[in-house]
Amino acid sequence: MSSVASAPVRVRFCPSPTGNPHVGLVRTALFNWAFAKHNQGTLVFRIEDTDAARDSEESYGQLLDAMRWLGFDWDEGPEVGGPHAPYRQSQRMDIYKDVAQKLQDAGRAYHCYCSTAELDARRDAARAAGRPSGYDGHCRDLSAEQVEAYKAEGRTPIVRFRMPDETITFTDLVRGELTFTPENVPDYGIVRANGAPLYTLVNPVDDALMEITHVLRGEDLLSSTPRQIALYKALIDLGIAKEIPSFGHLPYVMGEGNKKLSKRDPESSLNLYRERGFLPEGLLNYLSLLGWSLAADRDVFSIDEMVAAFEISDVNPNPARFDLKKCEAINGDHIRLLDVKDFTERCAPWLKAPFAPWAPEDFDEAKWQAVAPHAQTRLKVLSEITDNVDFLFLAEPAEDEASWVKAMKEGSDALLRTAREKLESADWSSPESLKEAVLAAGETHGLKLGKAQAPVRVAVTGRTIGLPLFESLEILGKEKSLARIDAALAKLTA
Ligand code: GLU
Ligand code: ZN
Repeated sequence: MSSVASAPVRVRFCPSPTGNPHVGLVRTALFNWAFAKHNQGTLVFRIEDTDAARDSEESYGQLLDAMRWLGFDWDEGPEVGGPHAPYRQSQRMDIYKDVAQKLQDAGRAYHCYCSTAELDARRDAARAAGRPSGYDGHCRDLSAEQVEAYKAEGRTPIVRFRMPDETITFTDLVRGELTFTPENVPDYGIVRANGAPLYTLVNPVDDALMEITHVLRGEDLLSSTPRQIALYKALIDLGIAKEIPSFGHLPYVMGEGNKKLSKRDPESSLNLYRERGFLPEGLLNYLSLLGWSLAADRDVFSIDEMVAAFEISDVNPNPARFDLKKCEAINGDHIRLLDVKDFTERCAPWLKAPFAPWAPEDFDEAKWQAVAPHAQTRLKVLSEITDNVDFLFLAEPAEDEASWVKAMKEGSDALLRTAREKLESADWSSPESLKEAVLAAGETHGLKLGKAQAPVRVAVTGRTIGLPLFESLEILGKEKSLARIDAALAKLTA
């Protein structure tokens, strides 16, 4: 028995641990993860922490925590290990040193002694003369005497990769065929003067050693691809790499004012979404739409549906717009899809300190269970639960001045008095009966239900907006509800 086996898919997610995880990073992780799953491939999680000045352990911990929270698993990487361990570049320095030396020995890289000032001056001159302004190859073929002279001056060289004098063409999985001419891709640094290897070296070297077949990453890295392809060719010649991977560049994500969403923009911080109570499945659903779609008429779907349908060739190269409103709406739809028990459990963090304004002993589990289904139909994000249910657990309703001013108009005291009377004799085990009472009170004062219930709502819950009023009244109970109406009346007549 034989079948044509296509090479197994191996993709990587390889963030640098700088700062907080952001949504652009999550989108990249998601597309790699979905691509791996869809193709029964392997996801390698690699930590690109070669920049000691910017990387931190705190950020590394946050990355791992974020990946777990989002529900991603990986086949090789931190915590799980794998055949290409270690997966933290800071632990692979010997490998890079060795490869850099081999590249130099083979003449594919060379020492460059140019100082920053010299490079700047030559770049400016080239620009002024209308010539390409990238590195001019000054140190490509220095004589032994020139090298000695530079050394005698005390210069320490960087290592520069020698770009072949040829046009590089590749077929981007998202963008189709792309061509880069040599004058646009000059020789570039791969090792700093202090011996530290750069992203330009370590990223393709690890992709080669880890046998990555598909590189899916943001469009911001597109300009490094022709360099990496050239480096790959050198690594193949040296027997270090087997094959050049395929590349696919995911579209830019645009934020406010049609500017590229930057990881420094507050709305791009993953922690913000977690704190606001986005569900991982809601956030991932929305982020999948940044460059991809399941079907024209379906914005809400599960991660399994995404995995089943995900083709990289369907990714749209045009910039995607990050729309927070849509993100919230989709998250709300996912909240609605939870079963009630799951929903009540996921709300737990927002029902206690530091979010909850009530004392822990005033929390009432039975009331919470009663009100939860009503809340579930309304929330966009879980953190909204606190304000929606605080009227049940606070001794007095939250003070919201704007709500008070909006609801308590002239005549509100008369209305509240009538409503109180009617509610007094209503059946408190039936929201319908409570509604009748407020409706009747409204009629007495020539007010429709909407207008009549606003002062009642603010008196009892403190806010103009909230859960269905009559269910809320029922759950809070007759005694407390009427006492709050009394308190509001007292305040109004004071
Ligand atoms: N560490 C790089 C970054 O976070 C990875 C880029 C790549 O995917 O090649 O930007
Ligand atoms: Zn030089």
